[in-house]
Amino acid sequence: MKTDIEIAQQAKLKPITEIAKMLDLTTDHYEPYGYTKAKLSDKLLEKWKDKPNGKIILVTSINPTPAGEGKSTVTVGLGQALNQLGEKAVIALREPSLGPVMGLKGGAAGGGYSQVLPMEEINLHFTGDIHAITSANNLLSAVIDNHIHRDNKLHIDPRKVEWKRVVDMNDRALRQVVVGLGGSSQGVPREDGYTITAASEIMAILCLADNMEDLKTRLSKIVIGYTYDDHPVTVKDLEVEGALTILLKDAFKPNLVQTIENTAAVIHGGPFANIAHGCNSIIATKTAAKLGDYVITEAGFGADLGAEKFLNIKTQAGNFHPDAIVIVATVRALKMHGGATKENLNTENIEALKAGMENLNKHIDTIERFGLPYVIAINKFPTDTSAETDFIESWCQSRGIDVALADVWAKGGAGGIELARKVMTKTMTSETKFTRTYNANDTLETKIRKIAQTVYGADDIELSLKAKKQIVFFEKQGWGNLPVCMAKTQYSLSDDPTLLGRPSGFTISIRELKASIGAGFIVVLTGDLMTMPGLPKTPAALHMDIDANGKIMGLS
Ligand code: ADP
Repeated sequence: MKTDIEIAQQAKLKPITEIAKMLDLTTDHYEPYGYTKAKLSDKLLEKWKDKPNGKIILVTSINPTPAGEGKSTVTVGLGQALNQLGEKAVIALREPSLGPVMGLKGGAAGGGYSQVLPMEEINLHFTGDIHAITSANNLLSAVIDNHIHRDNKLHIDPRKVEWKRVVDMNDRALRQVVVGLGGSSQGVPREDGYTITAASEIMAILCLADNMEDLKTRLSKIVIGYTYDDHPVTVKDLEVEGALTILLKDAFKPNLVQTIENTAAVIHGGPFANIAHGCNSIIATKTAAKLGDYVITEAGFGADLGAEKFLNIKTQAGNFHPDAIVIVATVRALKMHGGATKENLNTENIEALKAGMENLNKHIDTIERFGLPYVIAINKFPTDTSAETDFIESWCQSRGIDVALADVWAKGGAGGIELARKVMTKTMTSETKFTRTYNANDTLETKIRKIAQTVYGADDIELSLKAKKQIVFFEKQGWGNLPVCMAKTQYSLSDDPTLLGRPSGFTISIRELKASIGAGFIVVLTGDLMTMPGLPKTPAALHMDIDANGKIMGLS
């Protein structure tokens, strides 16, 4: 069997100018970035504000195994299938972070015959957007420490600086550091720490801003920490919103690439869904909706994380909602939820599958509560037996749920025709009653409780003393009307990664909150989740190589 990278290296890419032409783009709409990538203008939305929008399809999934369940693969495959049916479809994905690429999970450019290309570039430095975000973030850190070192006119309390430095790598050794050591000319010593760039507030801001002006306004509102008498200090107070925006001016432009079947794909922004809001940028999704009749996008991990935040945060910031949802399920993950061990996921086991269906059932319930039409996609793996896939199909059919077997990994778009047809039918329903989980004027505690109870199926939430105090303080600052961005493990519906299936009778422990005022949400940390992941015992990086001709091996 060929690996993802071997398949990608044999694909024939079209010049990006041809992909742009297919989308009726003219040379003032984009700038080529080499031969197979381009940066779209960030002004297209404004220019085309009266142009009708294509249908937006959001791909989500059940709680995944550590390898991922193929959301990106199905997203790409579905876009390719729609194109094979003669529809104008555009794919909108997130940019991969080097942390998972070099760590455990691998890249995020799809797989098999449903990939976006050039995958080596997309999975590595791509067009430099993530590095630009890292630079902007760390410029702000440098300005904060310089301000404190000089005469600290703003009276920033060095013990209350919330702003962290970032790096785009899984590096647990940087979780907690002390900066400014070495004497008075090196600055004021204080405790600091690193977050992975994909979880940074600037990544979220880039993904939620509508235009350059909005980007600058959001950057200016970032609260970096507090004064000695607990007043918030913002980027505007430090007067660097202009410089931060300059560093992001190109990163803010969505990237245009193509799939293995030359379907257009816009890749932009890459927040993780467990420790950040998990969706590609609003500007990319909305621009894609002006370019295609169908936009297929994804949100990270299961519907309890990425889709919840897409529907409660992104749609609110962007004032839109998807027309249909695809819930990806795999035989292997369902068997894991039903009690099969990791080593036995490739062996037929209908009993485990049957028990694991409860996990899918909860995600179906969640999407139904949002009032959106949906289709289940069974992402077919070579190890699945027909008894297993038939079981899932009849489980859905007996409940009147639309389901399609998607063989897009092995067959590309041709393996997703049935799924594409069913999704198109779903987008035609006129009675969508989209409802979010909470209202803006609910208290922060109510918002968290509503998500825990209706999306996770928890009995209740338990707030730490710190979290309780923070809620009172944040509401006093006037931040109580903001949405909440939950940081929770992706493996379980609960905050305990070992509770698989559809757990019940659990509470969600709320450890602490973080105010992301520029992004426009309050981050809520549950369980013991960290905003800087670590590398596993055998990182993917150990299996990578490059030969003298520049040919890369082992990237997945
Ligand atoms: P997600 O977006 O849900 O994290 P991806 O689409 O990135 O998942 O897929 C994760 C990995 O699984 C990739 O390496 C991909 O090649 C592989 N994969 C996905 N679908 C299949 C499939 N149907 N058969 C075999 N491998 C698959």
